[in-house]
Parts: sequence; structure tokens; C-alpha cells
Amino acid sequence: MKIDNIKLKPGEREEKLKKIAEEKLHGKCAYLRILRKSLDARVKSDIRWVYSIEADRTVRGEQEKVFLQAKEKDRRVVVIGSGPAGLFCALRLIEHGFCPIVLERGGSVEERTEQNDRFFHGQPLDEDTNVQFGEGGAGTFSDGKLNTQTHTPLNRDVLDMFIRFGAPEEIAYLQKPHVGSDNLKNVVRNMRRHILHAGGEVHFHCRFEDIVFSGGRVVKAVARNTKTGERKDFTCDALVLAIGHSSRDTFRMLAEKGFAMEQREFAVGVRIEHLQEKINIAQYSAWHTLLPPADYKLVSHAGERSAFTFCMCPGGYVMPAASECGGVVTNGMSNYARDGRNANSALLVQIKKEDFDRGGVLDGAEFQRRIERAAFAAAGSSYAAPVQRAEDFLRQRKSVRFGEVLPTYAAGTCMCDINLLFPESVTSSLKAAISDMGKRLQGFDHPDALLTAPETRFSSPVRILRGENGESLSHAGVYPCGEGCGYSGGIMSSAADGLRVAEKIFEKYNA
Ligand SMILES: Cc1cc2nc3c(=O)[nH]c(=O)nc-3n(C[C@H](O)[C@H](O)[C@H](O)COP(=O)(O)OP(=O)(O)OC[C@H]3O[C@@H](n4cnc5c(N)ncnc54)[C@H](O)[C@@H]3O)c2cc1C
Repeated sequence: MKIDNIKLKPGEREEKLKKIAEEKLHGKCAYLRILRKSLDARVKSDIRWVYSIEADRTVRGEQEKVFLQAKEKDRRVVVIGSGPAGLFCALRLIEHGFCPIVLERGGSVEERTEQNDRFFHGQPLDEDTNVQFGEGGAGTFSDGKLNTQTHTPLNRDVLDMFIRFGAPEEIAYLQKPHVGSDNLKNVVRNMRRHILHAGGEVHFHCRFEDIVFSGGRVVKAVARNTKTGERKDFTCDALVLAIGHSSRDTFRMLAEKGFAMEQREFAVGVRIEHLQEKINIAQYSAWHTLLPPADYKLVSHAGERSAFTFCMCPGGYVMPAASECGGVVTNGMSNYARDGRNANSALLVQIKKEDFDRGGVLDGAEFQRRIERAAFAAAGSSYAAPVQRAEDFLRQRKSVRFGEVLPTYAAGTCMCDINLLFPESVTSSLKAAISDMGKRLQGFDHPDALLTAPETRFSSPVRILRGENGESLSHAGVYPCGEGCGYSGGIMSSAADGLRVAEKIFEKYNA
């Protein structure tokens, strides 16, 4: 029996669900599964958790999924990148009987954690192992939000796989699930172990640099060990490009090889931090101590261009997310507990082709790079990030002190006028949005709200075109996949695209 719309007060114990189920079943409840749990905070004086459950008087077992094996399972599939797209592609290929070979330019998640820590404490940036690059991809040092705008049955598979490899089971039913950076590292490590155990290969510090074709099909991926400089060739029948949105050198190589690619519009802006406690009070009123740290999602059309908040991290930290020397990039992360003092979110403005198009397919990446370099120079060329109080940003003057919100950006900050880093169309829209959003979320426009700049890697500035069969429109045997190739945005949809591409490869070799 499915029972919808069960409402519990914040703080009420979930055991009550069993009692409710037994009343409906007119008997003992031997099986209970939460299908959905969401928070209804529309009426602040009457906030409720809302559940849908499945209950039965007999015990139910889960049905094992059976995967068909590829007929030609000896086909070699090389997957470039071990972000969500690459990892989930490799995992699904294994289910279909392949032994994928994963090439990753960065280090393992353990090594990456140490390298990032060194970078945050003033050591040089490693252009292959950082917050964007390395095992687990860009989202490893993230909040691990698993939201998606796209509804596909693959989402269920992605969540099941996350749980199988160690994510909390609640992600299966929470309306806004998140894994947390601390758990994500574990999940990623477990996925790698599974790939190796199943006969696949994972090569770290292995940067894909060239591609060889013969008879109109891909036959080889050429990589270089970033530690030793040694070249390594991997023969392959299919090559999955799951390179993420920041691999600009790889985009350049692919463009020079004549890959069918096109420019994509994206967004740029800042991270904005507030005290989490104030966001809780604004969102939950009197219930705030009984509920999880509050989030928000806001859009404003008050300025010349629309602005929106994105990737809000309750109780989180602003992350130094550079991957190129001489550039500053920010992003956000939280641990599972989301227990940091500040809330942060990207506050972004849409960038149009006319802003960056000079006739080259990589012009968008160049536009992003110019902003990142301007921020680096403005903040003292040390990877410290430009920061400014909201009030000072609105008045176009450098801050001279922090207010109630202290920065969480680990690589150091420098008080600058952030207005000078972006085109006027961006800064005027940001200003209009801050004031406008303050009307809908109390305190969003607090004078001490802190801006850290720039957030430039919202999405990929290019798309690598693929056909219905999943293969590149220009190069047979190559499968563009995930966010970098323009087919997803965020962890969930990138992982789902990895599964989608694996199914295409399976279909091809199972025919
Ligand atoms: C700090 C941060 C926080 C984020 N928070 C969230 C969040 O909470 N929720 C959410 O949904 N999304 C979040 N995102 C975005 C999310 O991480 C990405 O959407 C997602 O990781 C994209 O997956 P992907 O596999 O397509 O690419 P990526 O995750 O970028 O993975 C690409 C991989 O390819 C490797 N690679 C690139 N070029 C080469 C090459 N030439 N040779 C070998 N390897 C190569 C890279 O090292 C990388 O590991 C966050 C991103 C960052 C940076």
C-alpha cells in the first residue's frame, strides 16, 4: 500500500510512520519504505515534514537487476576522466561485461585531498590535481547535492549506485538529497576499488593528450604521465570523453583535431556568504532549531540581465577551485553535517555569446580566463580571492573591514572592488539582484553579506556534438559525455549521462 501526504512536525520521531501504516493496513506492518520526504515550509507557523511511504503486512525483498553482457566484451573502452560521468559510465560498462580503462589526469582522492590542503596553505597550484581535476572530478570537494532538473529513469539508478558505494540511504527519498564532501570521498574510493576488482583499470596522473584514428575510427588514446613525462598509448575500440568543463587544454586539442564543437553560453558571478543562523531564521522562523540548516534558491529579473543563485551550500565553505596557474576561481562545498558557521551560494548572471564571441569556438573559455586572471592580479597574485562586503560592492568602494560574516575561503582573501573584475552588465545585474533578493529572503542584502569572486566555472563554454548513437558527429568511436561536452550540469545529470553513454556503447557491441 502506498500512503501519501503523511505530515510530521519537526522533531516528531519517524517511528510514528509505522503506527500510521498499521492503522491503514488494519494489521501489523512488516515492511515499510520511505519513498519521499520533503519539507513544507510555506507557512512558517506550521512547518511540516511531508512523507510518502510504501507499507505491507508481509516482508518484501528487493529485486536484483540483471544486466546483459556485451557479445563482444573484449572490446576495449577507454574512459577519459573519473568525474561522475566517467565513473558511472565505467561502472555501467562493467555491469555489461566490459573491463573499462579509466585515464585520470589528477591524483587519487587521497592524494588530491593532501594536494588541495597544501595549495590552500600557500603551496603552488598543481594544474592536474586540484579542486577541479583528480579522482571523483569537480564535485568531490562539493556539497554533493544530488538535485536534478531533468527527469529520467536513470536518476533512480544513479541514486542506487551512490548508496551501493556508501552514500547515506536517505538520498533515495529526500526531496533535496546531499552526500557531503566527507562522504563523497569515501564513495569515490569505493567505486575505484570496484572497478579494479572487476578487472577494469584506473590510471592516475595520466593526462589524455592526443587521439589516433585509422580507417575512420578511433584506435588509440595517447596519454602522458604528468609526474614522469612518459608517453603511454592505450589502444581502444571506443573512447569516452568525460573530461569536465575545465579541461581547456583538452578542448583545444580536440578543436585542433577538427572535432565538431560549438560555443555554449554560461554564467559568471560571485559566491555570497551569510550567517547560516540568519538564513535559518529567515526560512524557518521559530522552528529553526529543530530543522536542518536551511537553503534557498532565488531568481531576480530586476537588473539588465537575469541573475540567479546556484549551488547553495548550507553550513559550507567557499572553495579555492582554480585549475590554471595565474587564475582565481571560487566554488562552494559542505560536509554532510552542514555545520559550518556560514551559508554560501553562487550568485550568477547569464553571459551571452555576444559578450565573448570573436569567431573562435573556445572564446567562452578565454572570457572566463580573463576574469580569473584579473581576480588573481587584483588580489596580490597569490591565489587569495577578492572579497567585498555587499554594502561596499553596491557603493563601488573597497571594504576596509569585515562585518558579521567572516570569509571561509581557505587560500586567503584580499579586499578589492569586485566591480572592476566583470563587465558592467554583470555588476549592475548583480547589484540589482542583491537588493531584489533581499525583498524575498530577509537578510540576503545584509550590508555585511560577503562576496568572494569570481565564480566562472558554472558550466562548459563548449559542446562537443554527438549523434543519436552517442558518437561524436565528426569522429567515429568517440563518445562525448557529461558536463564538459555540454550534456549535463551537476553531479546527478553527469552521472546519468555516464550511464546513458555506457548503454550506447553496449547497444553497439551487443547488436
Ligand atoms: C567545488 C565544487 C562544488 C560543486 N558542488 C556541486 C554540488 O553540490 N552538486 C552538484 O550537482 N554539482 C556540483 N558541482 C558541479 C559538479 O561537480 C559537476 O557538474 C560534475 O562533477 C560534472 O561531472 P563530469 O564527470 O561531467 O566532469 P568532472 O566532474 O569535471 O570530471 C572530469 C574529470 O576528467 C578529468 N580530466 C579532464 N581532462 C582530462 C584529460 N585530458 N586527461 C585525463 N583526465 C582528464 C578531470 O581531472 C576530472 O576528474 C560542484 C563543482 C565544484 C568544482
